[in-house]
Amino acid sequence: MSDIQLADVAVIGGGPVGLATALLMARGGLSVTVMERAPLDTWAEPGFDGREIALTHHSVRLLEQAGAWSHIPQAVICPLKEARIETGSFRHPLTFDTRGEGVDALGWLVSNNQIRRALFAAAQHMPNITLLPGTAVQTIRQGQDYAAVHHNGGQVNAKLVVGADGRFSPTRQRAGIGAIVHDFGKSMMVCRMAHESPHHNVALQWFDEGQTIALLPVNGMASSLVLTLPPQEIEALAHMPREAFNAEIMRRVGNRLGAMRLVSTRHVYPLKGVYAHRFTARRLALVGDAAVGMHPITAHGFNLGLKGQETLARQVLAAVAKDGDAGSPAALRTFERQHRKATALLFAGTNGIASLYTHDGPPFRQIREGCLRMADRFSPFKKAVTSLLMDRQPSAPGA
Ligand SMILES: Cc1cc2nc3c(=O)[nH]c(=O)nc-3n(C[C@H](O)[C@H](O)[C@H](O)COP(=O)(O)OP(=O)(O)OC[C@H]3O[C@@H](n4cnc5c(N)ncnc54)[C@H](O)[C@@H]3O)c2cc1C
Repeated sequence: MSDIQLADVAVIGGGPVGLATALLMARGGLSVTVMERAPLDTWAEPGFDGREIALTHHSVRLLEQAGAWSHIPQAVICPLKEARIETGSFRHPLTFDTRGEGVDALGWLVSNNQIRRALFAAAQHMPNITLLPGTAVQTIRQGQDYAAVHHNGGQVNAKLVVGADGRFSPTRQRAGIGAIVHDFGKSMMVCRMAHESPHHNVALQWFDEGQTIALLPVNGMASSLVLTLPPQEIEALAHMPREAFNAEIMRRVGNRLGAMRLVSTRHVYPLKGVYAHRFTARRLALVGDAAVGMHPITAHGFNLGLKGQETLARQVLAAVAKDGDAGSPAALRTFERQHRKATALLFAGTNGIASLYTHDGPPFRQIREGCLRMADRFSPFKKAVTSLLMDRQPSAPGA
C-alpha cells in the first residue's frame, strides 16, 4: 500500500523559489508539501555555490514576509552602493547610484547558499508545510479536480502542483511544456577573491575583449569574481593550481583592487537562457527558473522568481477565498498573463545585452562604447535602470 498525502499545494523543487512559494502559500493558510531531490542535510545546510545574489528592495521585503530574512546573519549581507559598467579600454564608466533616491543602497548582495539556508529554516518551522527530502518524482497525473504526484516514497494529491525544479525542469517536461533555450556558448566561473584595496561597496561589470568580468562586493576585503569565457578556457581556469590562478586573474583584472587571492572554491555555470512556452497547464504552474531562466548578467533571475511566486500566491489565495480551489483555472490564467507581462521584455532585453557585450568584432565594440557614452549622459535612462535595479514597488501578497 503506498502512502497518500493530501495538500492544497504540492511544490516540486525545494530551491530558493520553491521554498519561498511554499512559505507565502502556507502563510496564507494553505497546506503545502515540498518535494526536493537533495537529501535533508544538504537541503538544510547547502554548501557555497559561488553565486552572490543581488537582491532588490522588493525581494528583501518578500523574504521578510516569508519569515526568512531574519535567518540571514547581518554579517553576510553586503549593501550595494554603486554599480559601474565599463567596456574595453574605453574608460568612461556608466554608473548607477542611489543619489536622489532617498535610500542608502541600490540593493544587497547575499550568497545563494545563505538565502537557501534561511528559507529552509523558515519553512521548517511552519506547521502547515511538509518537507520531503530525497524525493524523486516519478509521474504527475493532472486530473479534473486534483493532481496526483507519484514519487519514490508514495503519492501526494494536491489541488495545485507548482514546478520549481530549475531551468531544466523535469516537471515542465512531464507537463509537455516546451521552452525557448538560448545557448550563449559561454561559461561563467564564480569564486571569492580577497584583495588589498577596499571595494567601497561598488559592483563593477567590465566588458573586455574576449572576456566579461564582474567584481561584486562582499563584506570584508573581498569580492566575488564572475568571469565569462568560452567553456574550455573556463574549465582550464577552474582547475588551475591556486598560485597560477591568482597570477592569471591579476593579469586579467589588473591592479584595480591591489593584489588578489582566491579564498573560496571555484564554480562553473554554462550560460543558457530558458523561457517556457507556457507557465501553466491543468492544475499546474511553473515558477522560478523552471518558468524563466535568465542570463545572470542583469541579476534578475531570483528577483523575477520571487515576483512570479508572489503573483501566483496572490491569485491562488484569492481563488481559495472565493471558491476554495487552489488550482482554479481562472487564477492560473491570470498568473500566466501577469508573469509573462513582467518577464517577456526583460528576458529578450537581457539576451540582447548579453549578446552585444560578449561579441568582440569591431562593430560590436563601437556600438558598446557608443551605448555607454549615450546612456551615461541621458539621465532619464539612468533613472529608469536605477529603478529597475532597486525595484522599490510595494508588495501586496495576500499573506
Ligand atoms: C552565477 C550566477 C549568478 C546569479 N546571480 C543572480 C543575481 O545576482 N540576482 C538574481 O536575482 N539571480 C541571480 N542568479 C539566478 C538565480 O541563482 C536563480 O534564478 C535561482 O537560483 C533560481 O531558483 P529556483 O529555485 O527557481 O531554481 P534552482 O535554484 O535551480 O532550484 C531548483 C531546486 O529543485 C531541485 N530539483 C531539481 N529537479 C528536481 C526533481 N526532479 N525533483 C525534486 N527536486 C528537484 C533542485 O535540487 C533544486 O533544489 C544567478 C545565477 C547564477 C548561475
